[in-house]
Amino acid sequence: MLALQPVRGCQDLLPETMRRHRRVGDTARSLAALYGFAEIATPIFEFTEVFARPIGEHTDIVSKEMYTFRDRGGEELTLRPENTAGVVRAVLSNGLTQQTPLKFFYSGPMFRYERPQKGRFRQFHQIGVEILGVPQPPADVEVIACGWRILKELGIADRALLELNTLGDPESRAAYREALVAYLSVHRAHLSEDSQARLERNPLRVLDSKDDGDRRIVADAPEFARYLSDASCEFFEKVQNGLTQIGIAYRLNPRLVRGLDYYTHTVFEFVTTDLGAQGTVLAGGRYDGLVELMGGPAMAGVGWAAGIERLAMMIAEPPSPPRPVAMIPVGVIDELRLTMLAEELRDAGLGVEMTYSGNLGRRMHRANRLGARAAVLLGESELAQNAATVRDLDSGEQSLVPLAELAARLTAMCS
Ligand code: ATP
Ligand code: MG
Repeated sequence: MLALQPVRGCQDLLPETMRRHRRVGDTARSLAALYGFAEIATPIFEFTEVFARPIGEHTDIVSKEMYTFRDRGGEELTLRPENTAGVVRAVLSNGLTQQTPLKFFYSGPMFRYERPQKGRFRQFHQIGVEILGVPQPPADVEVIACGWRILKELGIADRALLELNTLGDPESRAAYREALVAYLSVHRAHLSEDSQARLERNPLRVLDSKDDGDRRIVADAPEFARYLSDASCEFFEKVQNGLTQIGIAYRLNPRLVRGLDYYTHTVFEFVTTDLGAQGTVLAGGRYDGLVELMGGPAMAGVGWAAGIERLAMMIAEPPSPPRPVAMIPVGVIDELRLTMLAEELRDAGLGVEMTYSGNLGRRMHRANRLGARAAVLLGESELAQNAATVRDLDSGEQSLVPLAELAARLTAMCS
């Protein structure tokens, strides 16, 4: 027997949901264009090494969430769990490193083997932006402003709070890491099992553990701020200043770390309380070491990704598409005439539905079910007069309209 379910954690996007996804994606794409982000698409799968080292062997993503397989040629491939590494790979593969700054927007499916929950899927979709080659704070401000503008346009900015932190430069981060490990090691026995493992491999990650016991221990952990170099502090101040100047409110969250290993300096998340535990809708930061780590030149980077599913759940019902007109034959006529007329109306930009089969009553019923604004009735008598009967399906009024005026008349009705 065929398995009639989609794979766990995957879902069909039926038209109503798809409309919401489109609204999120289209809004993001057009606003990102205002900032000069050009759309890019990279393959949905890559050689596993594109993700493994850059994201970090000890991150949740690489250690337990990747869809990795061997193809028939024996290549080790992985379905992309995120798109930043793929974008950087594309920059390197296409020799674009001399053309900085580079600014990209992307939108598409990502894959992670996670426990499915509300707002958490195994195939999900992200939009995102990246700026490569700009090491200065205004780039951080610009990407955050772009994300903020998108949330505003989607009508959810007032339900999302920007949380901000800095991980400093690599030296500050290393110094802090050492202090954190020293502190956590003392409390090791009281940490959750997961955090004990993180302590070995990815200690910063303990900071955003959801476990209550861990949280109590973390509450007294050393503060990152004390380990920041002067240059890192100054960088972070400039970012904060920029956000304040353009009126973007934020809250400092010294516990905010990001799941991926490659972040430096600014990290941020827009968080909402609307979606229960899956509260992060848009998240990102600066990743100045990534390009070099992937074999390219030293090149700064900053960007974010946002989950389309989570945003789509939060937005208001998108406006419905324009109502169509429905073509209905009267009596026995050559239906090809109807098809040709429908094509002419579509040439004029009208949405046209065929009613396909049944008697007049059934076809009218179908036209109403489709939400048609008007029915175009064509029978022998209309054809003889080179006209069609237009029935206003809201008022029930109908009139004979010469074919030459039909498109204009219907356009006026449907707009
Ligand atoms: P989380 O802490 O929720 O697991 P994350 O840190 O793994 O998030 P990122 O890698 O930063 O998430 O991805 C950016 C955004 O993509 C998230 O804020 C979220 O909106 C979305 N996202 C991540 N994983 C999933 C998923 N499995 N299903 C749906 N959306 C997701
Ligand atoms: Mg995750």
